[in-house]
Amino acid sequence: MSDPKYHRIILKLSGESFTRPGDRGIDMNEVVHIARQTIKAKEQGVQIAIVIGGGNILRGAQFIAGNHNIQEATAHYMGMLATVINGLALQDAVESLGCETRLMSAIKMDGVAEPFIRRRAKRHLEKGRIVILAAGTGAPFVTTDTAAAQKALELDADILMKATRVDGVYTADPEKDPTAELYEHLSYSEVMEKNLRVMDPTAIAHCMEHKLPILVFNYRTDGNIERAVRGEVIGTRVEV
Ligand code: UDP
Repeated sequence: MSDPKYHRIILKLSGESFTRPGDRGIDMNEVVHIARQTIKAKEQGVQIAIVIGGGNILRGAQFIAGNHNIQEATAHYMGMLATVINGLALQDAVESLGCETRLMSAIKMDGVAEPFIRRRAKRHLEKGRIVILAAGTGAPFVTTDTAAAQKALELDADILMKATRVDGVYTADPEKDPTAELYEHLSYSEVMEKNLRVMDPTAIAHCMEHKLPILVFNYRTDGNIERAVRGEVIGTRVEV
């Protein structure tokens, strides 16, 4: 075990990390891949809580776009439930690799997941379990980015690490524009002013207010979660 830079981190995994690029649903090979990387990172001696997204199954805002006979709030609740489905898959993937976990849900769901209770979540982390946080904030009209920022603050995490399928934050969409350049550092206000797609604005506002650093990095590069927890310079760092 080397000396990790952080004591406790929140890792935000989007639903897209649960499936092959361009696909939907869950591909357990992808889930196991990310589970293995996360365990290796934890073995560096850092406590890890994962906030899980649901976009591989359903995003409320997208779902209402083509469906007029559903209320927006209902669609967001469906999105939150999607994150619980992902959480169950991730829990089994991590445990199949021999690491203890707890799945906690922001929406009470006895028999499926523990309710999220801040002090209990901290206790699980102290005992070396990977804590998987599902159902976002438990409230509609926001995304799991906001949940990740809130949980990072509640659990006194040192940093919010957002795993994406690109290397960090770019001047333009690197999947569409080959001239796009990667930012190594950004301030919160630059993110806001330039309207950069780092995380949703509510999440950025929470991080800015509480000076919580954000690291955006590529989870598809093997070993990157480990590098991130060791504090190696990868991706884009957003801070004051
Ligand atoms: N969601 C919500 N409240 C929350 C978190 C999520 O209503 O606190 C809903 C929202 O509709 C969102 C969906 O759940 O689009 C799935 O989450 P998200 O879009 O953040 O997933 P990701 O893009 O990270 O896969």
